[in-house]
Amino acid sequence: MNALLSVSDKAGIVDFARGLRALGIGLISTGGTARLLQDAGLPVTEVAEVTGFPEMLDGRVKTLHPKVHGGLLARRDVPAHVAALKQHGIDTIDLLVVNLYPFEATVAKPGCTLEDAIENIDIGGPAMVRSAAKNWKDVGVLTDAAQYGPVLEELRANRKLSDKTRFGLAVTAFNRIADYDGAISDYLSAIEFDAVQPGQAPQRSLFGGQSNGRFVKVQDLRYGENPHQQAAFYRDLYPAPGSLVTARQLQGKELSYNNIADADAAWECVKSFDTPACVIVKHANPCGVALGKDPLEAYSKAFQTDPTSAFGGIIAFNRAVDLAAAQAVSKQFVEVLMAPGFTPEALEVFKAKANVRVLEIALPPGGASDWDNGRNAVDAKRVGSGLLMQTADNRELTVAELKVVTTKQPTAAELQDLLFAWKVAKYVKSNAIVFCKGGMTIGVGAGQMSRIDSARIASIKAGNAKLSMQGTVVASDAFFPFRDGLDVVVDAGATCVAQPGGSMRDQEVIDAANERGIAMVFTGVRHFRH
Ligand code: 5GP
Repeated sequence: MNALLSVSDKAGIVDFARGLRALGIGLISTGGTARLLQDAGLPVTEVAEVTGFPEMLDGRVKTLHPKVHGGLLARRDVPAHVAALKQHGIDTIDLLVVNLYPFEATVAKPGCTLEDAIENIDIGGPAMVRSAAKNWKDVGVLTDAAQYGPVLEELRANRKLSDKTRFGLAVTAFNRIADYDGAISDYLSAIEFDAVQPGQAPQRSLFGGQSNGRFVKVQDLRYGENPHQQAAFYRDLYPAPGSLVTARQLQGKELSYNNIADADAAWECVKSFDTPACVIVKHANPCGVALGKDPLEAYSKAFQTDPTSAFGGIIAFNRAVDLAAAQAVSKQFVEVLMAPGFTPEALEVFKAKANVRVLEIALPPGGASDWDNGRNAVDAKRVGSGLLMQTADNRELTVAELKVVTTKQPTAAELQDLLFAWKVAKYVKSNAIVFCKGGMTIGVGAGQMSRIDSARIASIKAGNAKLSMQGTVVASDAFFPFRDGLDVVVDAGATCVAQPGGSMRDQEVIDAANERGIAMVFTGVRHFRH
């Protein structure tokens, strides 16, 4: 039995090769790998010796030779194949160990030039991996150091790999090649060729040409949005730091389809705040959002907005959960709890509630405005046999952009609440009307087909929670098409309103605001969310 080893990432390869050798397996290897094994005292045949051809062109051609590919591809059960090997003096290669030039890591480095990227496209490695994987019945192919241990164990136990193992290895190998080629195609197709400057990192467009990223399966889900739907959870091949898929589940039941969708809504909202915040989500909408001096205060305020809806909610914090916050949260029925960290005492509290899914997720490294580190900043939505893609809605509003359109000016406190309310409204399904005061939501009207109904629902909810609506501010995700919606929120007690403006009837709505004696600002920005 012969093994060919050719790895860029050499971690673990010496021990693995030593294990193979101890089983009497012959070792063939390429330049760098061969040297390392020789230095470790292992007997190795260089590929150049096998092919009778030197490695050439700076390593671009090392293993691209019939002596290698014949040895990998020949079917051992077809006499003509065996005869052809014999005729040409080719030995079989029964085990292939390859990991590829680090293309992904190279292009992820800031400043990577096109030349660097191109040199890191592995040619012979993927060719061998494909040959071996195609011939999985006779060849075992390893493409990941994590496979070294189990493969060695199986070889030690049985002297050979089972069909099932070889098939599994081949599937992993083809997946790896697809990921690798996907990364190359993604990288190249996004390059603006005319703007390429030698020696500089090329400009790349967000929506590359042909390829739009590859997804890898995280897990199958028990079912989809409803029990009669099948579902699975996929993640981007290269997830952005701070995104939901980087979460680690510390305890609790398996996440469901709806859990994941709601957890994403909660996490995206909570991570947009710089100061301690808590977001409670139900059915993809925030039903309570608040800021506080610590997680406990933020949670208590967020919970007050809508205690009825918060039952069975998804709760997200942007600060580590401590004992006090954990005790408060654990008084309610919680589906999912997520935070960048938990104190050991806080985790103890949830140990007694084994069903609660506790997720730990690191915040984005650059803080609340670090949307995606420029990666994966794309929103996708499936439509019948198609895909809608757009950049993520990460538009932030500054005070300087607010245009006061009424005689009355907002107070400093109102302005602060307006910015808070505006941020929350972005995460509420349209039509969104959000009442806030003192850094907390007072009433949230979401997902209605008419703005006036959202306004009515938001005030009903605040009434249900017995919260005072007097002196609240209101954010509306899109303009008021008529004055009626504005009248509803002012009747409820709002004294200041933010909306994008831009309606044909802006003047009618401004006149109404002046008549009612409230302050109104135009943001010039709309935040539809569907
Ligand atoms: P080594 O460090 O052993 O010299 O090279 C190992 C790397 O070379 C592996 O990443 C392997 O995939 C790659 N490789 C093997 N054969 C060829 C080839 O013919 N052409 C190119 N471009 N890369 C190869």
